[in-house]
Amino acid sequence: DLQLSDRVQNIKPSPTLAVTNRAAELRAAGKDIIGLGAGEPDFDTPKHIKDAAIEALNKGFTKYTAVDGTPSLKKAIIDKFKRDNGLSYQPDQILVSCGGKQSFFNMALALLNAGDEVVIPAPYWVSYPDMVRIAEGTPVIVETEQSNRFKMTAIQLEAAITPKTKLVVLNSPSNPSGVAYTEAELKELAEVLLKYPNILIATDDMYEHILWAEGGFHNIVTVCPELYDRTVVMNGVSKAYSMTGWRIGYIGGPEVLVKAMKKIQSQSTSNPTSISQYAAEAALNGNQDCIQEMLSAFKVRHDYLVKALNELPGVECIESDGTFYAFPSFKGAIQAASCETDVEFAEKMLIEAEVALVPGSAFGTPGHMRLSYATSMENLETAISRLAKALS
Ligand code: PLP
Repeated sequence: DLQLSDRVQNIKPSPTLAVTNRAAELRAAGKDIIGLGAGEPDFDTPKHIKDAAIEALNKGFTKYTAVDGTPSLKKAIIDKFKRDNGLSYQPDQILVSCGGKQSFFNMALALLNAGDEVVIPAPYWVSYPDMVRIAEGTPVIVETEQSNRFKMTAIQLEAAITPKTKLVVLNSPSNPSGVAYTEAELKELAEVLLKYPNILIATDDMYEHILWAEGGFHNIVTVCPELYDRTVVMNGVSKAYSMTGWRIGYIGGPEVLVKAMKKIQSQSTSNPTSISQYAAEAALNGNQDCIQEMLSAFKVRHDYLVKALNELPGVECIESDGTFYAFPSFKGAIQAASCETDVEFAEKMLIEAEVALVPGSAFGTPGHMRLSYATSMENLETAISRLAKALS
């Protein structure tokens, strides 16, 4: 018998991918499943970005690059941080990786020792706790309430901190809740963090541009520049430019940590794909109107979906601030369907309504369902009428 590592036995495969696979299985068996599990925009990558990739290929830009990214892409990232966030970085503070996922993975491996605690508010992006576990860290989950718009309060944050706390993770706008912290809320969290100078902060800004809340985008370091020296700002091109398959994420952060993360990357993947880097540079330096087009479509779908969800029996949904996810409570509906868990309910909806939803327990918040509206209005309307029928 093959003995696998404790490491791999301590983690679970990504549940969002599992739902996508289950839906694909049923489709292959002839079922007409509507998938609302997608974690990626349904738009094509904008043409000027694809053209840049073609140019890279034709130029023969197909070899290894510097591990941490090409100098010109790093410059485009530095310019982006300055332009959008008012943050200044030197090239040694920037690391380009194979997606935001690898950025976080590198950080966990470069930072954590066994037993180090990482504060993660729930609902969370599914991968944070497992990546922390792979690095032998201990996730400390802070549960939030829908009535407080799924925000971790300053009091909750302070209560979660112990002498072992090494890292606090913030993700705003959030996958899966769709909400974003306001400037005032971030200031309150910053007040707490200022009292604990040994704690590092990761702000995952992957959905920065998919935001319609008044007040615009802020993160912990834009509201509290004193935290600059111990904040890792994580971002990428996947969601903003519909480039999930290109695998480019990037960070700006403390030079010592960036150097350590680069060392990890140099012994795993080396540089991200040269062609994708070339395309990402075009995305960051080019016309940003493509973002607005996607954003407007997401907002129209959001408005429809939130209203329609609230009309379903046993479902309560708050308005999101951005992203392309709704994360309603299905507690009443789960109970009415006599299901023990949200996983059982999701399976029931897959069979009875032929709609694929991701159960909230995957994100640390059971009783909710994540619905992605990175799909057509027509699909959303059909999904809602099928759910309405199944729940009535
Ligand atoms: N962070 C959040 C909150 C996400 O939702 C995702 C993707 O689902 C990522 C990071 C990583 O994105 P990628 O690895 O595609 O760049």
